[in-house]
Amino acid sequence: MPAYDFDIGILGGGSAGLTVAAGSAQLGAKTLLVEKESVLGGDCLHFGCVPSKTLIKTAHVYHLMKNAHRFGLPSVPVPPIDFQEVTRRIQSVINIIQHHDSEERFCSLGVRVVFGQAAFIDEHAIHMNGQMFSAKNWVLATGSSPSIPPIPGLDKTPFVTNREIFSLKRLPASLIILGAGPIAIEMAQAFCRLGSRVMVVQRGNQILSREDKDMADGVMNSLASEGVLFHLNSSVISARDLGTEREIALKNRDGNTLSLRAESIMVAMGRDVNVNGLGLEKIGVLFDQKGIKLDQRLRTSHKHIYAAGDITGAYQFTHAAGYEGGIVISNTIFHLPRKADYTFLPWCTYTHPELASIGMNEKAAKAAGISYSVWTEEFKDNDRSLAEGSDIGKIKMILDEKEKPLGIQILGLHGGELISEWVAAVNGRVKLSTLAASVHPYPTLGEINKKVAATFFAGKIFSDKVRKGLKFFFNLRGRACG
Ligand SMILES: Cc1cc2nc3c(=O)[nH]c(=O)nc-3n(C[C@H](O)[C@H](O)[C@H](O)COP(=O)(O)OP(=O)(O)OC[C@H]3O[C@@H](n4cnc5c(N)ncnc54)[C@H](O)[C@@H]3O)c2cc1C
Repeated sequence: MPAYDFDIGILGGGSAGLTVAAGSAQLGAKTLLVEKESVLGGDCLHFGCVPSKTLIKTAHVYHLMKNAHRFGLPSVPVPPIDFQEVTRRIQSVINIIQHHDSEERFCSLGVRVVFGQAAFIDEHAIHMNGQMFSAKNWVLATGSSPSIPPIPGLDKTPFVTNREIFSLKRLPASLIILGAGPIAIEMAQAFCRLGSRVMVVQRGNQILSREDKDMADGVMNSLASEGVLFHLNSSVISARDLGTEREIALKNRDGNTLSLRAESIMVAMGRDVNVNGLGLEKIGVLFDQKGIKLDQRLRTSHKHIYAAGDITGAYQFTHAAGYEGGIVISNTIFHLPRKADYTFLPWCTYTHPELASIGMNEKAAKAAGISYSVWTEEFKDNDRSLAEGSDIGKIKMILDEKEKPLGIQILGLHGGELISEWVAAVNGRVKLSTLAASVHPYPTLGEINKKVAATFFAGKIFSDKVRKGLKFFFNLRGRACG
């Protein structure tokens, strides 16, 4: 057997790469981690989850300050924000988490970390910084980058993406956001709350196109009520730099054109996988624009080269990257033929209210040709939600013909936290009757989970048949009023 320098080599030190590196090294594998940037952590830490959630919290606090009167508090004059203070807070949170994702920590776990741009020279070896490194197994975990569509004039017009938006020098007075996926929508609300005039442009007839329209519309209506302007069914036809302002020309479905002007443009129109420069063509690893071609064990066309994280093109979330990292460790280190299964992979869009999902929504069930029933409960009937000042949203439970959950979506306050009960329930195959009968503390938002399950059984329990049976056996005497 040829002697390789390492048992496992990983390209990319983001969520997926760090998971594989930490796991492999702690299990005793001689592990190499290659990162292109000068620090570890990837998009999630530097340009994604961490800065976006930090910004969202700041925007939420500012929104509460401006809306104190809604909570029975005195209205106070709220001065405009200093965006540099906001970016300082974002950076301070990143700095804390960076310790956890530092070269020193990974070295202490036993990982050799090298910084630089690597390319495969053969199926088992890469070349970088004038050196060659070989490994028995490789993992492609180089993530994704914002996709920049070929809009006429955009190349000559200044714009930002998620890489620049968290370190702007000042808050833009106005912001056009191209795209209406989770990144676009989270930023739309945050910047609107901080004081920018925000316009969102979307080609389709709804935002968050993966979600059911009723739930996505709930998010859109909330943002619209706070001042975000939406241009749905609108294609971008050109961009222009006007000096102090930028202009975007749109065409809607009826063929009418419209031009929008703003101080800044954010492009959030999907993600391209980071495959360029890796030399994958040379060694015959198959991929297309959407991602690397993989089998269910996350193996590429070479069985010793795996992929995990955004580069797979599957579910571009940090927790998906972590899950896939675990699948790679099972296969490479434990030699267990474990397959990736995304049936119950949850996700959440962190707007206010949040929209969280697990399993199939109606759109997915229809596309799969599955018969289903829908059960809902509204947050306006949840006492805690009202006490918290929110009556928006609902939970939607989708059941199959055998009355088993296909999926759950929650649009409401802390939807992302609430979905976790369903994560445990569906993965642990907990019966709906168990959830319906379980006692939840009052008053909590989580009661809505129990209530939607109980609603399903209510029709069966409070039925004529049951009433007649009870009357027959126990001589119950029926209604006392009306
Ligand atoms: C604004 C925003 C908000 C987000 N919010 C959330 C959220 O709330 N929750 C959630 O789950 N997900 C969120 N995501 C998605 C999440 O950030 C990604 O799914 C996650 O970072 C993917 O991890 P990864 O390891 O595949 O890629 P990354 O974390 O991007 O890591 C890839 C690493 O590979 C490196 N690299 C690239 N090319 C090379 C090369 N040639 N050689 C060596 N190294 C290379 C990169 O520098 C990077 O460090 C968000 C994304 C964005 C943009």
